[in-house]
Amino acid sequence: MAGRIPQSFIDDLTARADIVELIGSRVELKKAGREYRACCPFHNEKTPSFWVSPVKQFYHCFGCGAHGTALGFLMEYDKLSFPEAIEELASRLGLDVPREAGGQADTAGSTTPLYDMNLRVAKYFASVLPNDARAREYAKKRGLTSQTIDKFMIGFATNSWNEVLKRFGTKDADRKALSDCGLIIERERTDSRTLDRHYDRFRDRLMFPIRDSRGRVLAFGGRIIDQGEPKYLNSPETMLFHKGRELYGLYEVRQSRSALKRLLVVEGYMDVARLHQAGVNYAVATLGTATTPEHLRRIFKLVNEVVFCFDGDRAGRAAAWRALGNALPEARDGRQIRFLFLPEGQDPDSLVGTEGREAFEKRLEGSLPLSEYLVSALAEQADLGHADGRAQYAELARPLVTKVAPGVYRDLLIERLAESIKLPAVRLNQLWFNEVTDSAGNHLSSAESAVPAGRSGSLPSHLASRRPRDGGGGKGLVTKAVKLVVHFPSVAAKVSGAQLTQLEMTDDPGSRFLFDLLDQLQQEPAAHTAQLLERWRDRPEVARMRALAGEEMLGLDEASAALDLVSAIEKLALEPTMRRHDELMAKGDLTDDERAELKELNVVIHMAKSKANPSASGSSAGGR
Ligand SMILES: [Zn+2]
Repeated sequence: MAGRIPQSFIDDLTARADIVELIGSRVELKKAGREYRACCPFHNEKTPSFWVSPVKQFYHCFGCGAHGTALGFLMEYDKLSFPEAIEELASRLGLDVPREAGGQADTAGSTTPLYDMNLRVAKYFASVLPNDARAREYAKKRGLTSQTIDKFMIGFATNSWNEVLKRFGTKDADRKALSDCGLIIERERTDSRTLDRHYDRFRDRLMFPIRDSRGRVLAFGGRIIDQGEPKYLNSPETMLFHKGRELYGLYEVRQSRSALKRLLVVEGYMDVARLHQAGVNYAVATLGTATTPEHLRRIFKLVNEVVFCFDGDRAGRAAAWRALGNALPEARDGRQIRFLFLPEGQDPDSLVGTEGREAFEKRLEGSLPLSEYLVSALAEQADLGHADGRAQYAELARPLVTKVAPGVYRDLLIERLAESIKLPAVRLNQLWFNEVTDSAGNHLSSAESAVPAGRSGSLPSHLASRRPRDGGGGKGLVTKAVKLVVHFPSVAAKVSGAQLTQLEMTDDPGSRFLFDLLDQLQQEPAAHTAQLLERWRDRPEVARMRALAGEEMLGLDEASAALDLVSAIEKLALEPTMRRHDELMAKGDLTDDERAELKELNVVIHMAKSKANPSASGSSAGGR
């Protein structure tokens, strides 16, 4: 893999991005005041509630709540991964994405020649197919139309040991690229009579370019057209190609651009091509591997429904069982994971060819939900007629169910399993998750004492909190302050060093977060909301920040935002004092020490209030 993208580049890129231009190239925007609006591309609506702010470089939909930065938009709308979104945004600005050295020996930019080489070779293969009678005949026999051949850029590698090498490997650098792409193989022993140290990997095969979600050719899959072994041959793992990650056909699925609701995962590229040709244009294939956790994460970024399709034979059942194991951690409420087993001897390619799309999709409707597949597969491994068998069943199920995140989905799954062994679900839950409920209980009680005694001891007594912070007035103030900073990042500069120190000293997590935010911005000012949000992308607080960025701040300008922020921080700094004050007041019967403390607190509070509101100082009528 290429190295990491430097954070400084991402930061610079976000600062320079033009979200109006970017979104405008995909959605029709109308100017409305200082902002732009449109009908939301993420939900169905007739009156526009989708807004794009050039000042904040942020979009927000008041209808469905979708919101984000330019990078976020590319990820949501174009369904790109974060690095892919960066590549896309950079290429719009004519920038090359630098990569940090390390991890791999190869450094910045070294993958570009490989993408180029793969594309040139793919185009060459595609140009051979229509002109080779045998290949043409084979494609016809397999039922591939010329539209499908074009859509998938299917080609042909002639039966030659060095056709690709001769055409594309004339220079040393090109031979290195061919070799790095896995298109040619180095001979183990160099025969003095042969001039070439290399030979072509793919010979006499129908060639399927494997493309990434942006359409770049990463690798190839080749199907032998006559006899010969192996029947299917893929590119090896290269700098570009990681077979446990890629899904064949995903680019083509996304090209069709109809609303994507589900994905069908099959085993071969021929299956994918034939399914698309029949109108099942949401089929993808794993590439000679089992379905990996990474595949599943990618799938669920795109859709909430996936059907895994397997041959009915033993190999197919084994593959399905592995897919189930990897799917469980991704199972949750609102997601559908189903399994379709085809009749023995049939594959999707042949089946959809003979029975057509409608009949095939009927099979999909009748596929087994994950829970049913799990129940029936376990039942095959244990005899439910006896108590021993049922216990064995429970033991087999346990490690699988623990993979599922706690929640509604897991509860339902447990209910279903309990039903099949005729045990109350509560009992099964106890059997399996005894220790889990215990620790959940512990977790709750530890949250109550979130402030460790040792830490508050290091603070002046009147600043130390003795109560849990949640629900206190401080939370609203932190939210207000963070909202101001998110909308107007430049106001961070208006906070004084003394105020920052006050925030830093508190043990309230919210105030600490506000401190981090302000401190970072004072050291490195952000040009707008989007740049700030992108810097916090990997932090858990970012979701809340994005939501705040989407909320309206009517009639507020930068100057009044700065005043509001400073006043919120002053109040926040006073919070622990106020709380201790209230606590002592409520207590009534005070010791001498406590009485002295209360007096001191009153002075602090009075000073702070008169400072915040100078005109009212000294006059009791002005105070509230
Ligand atoms: Zn919307």
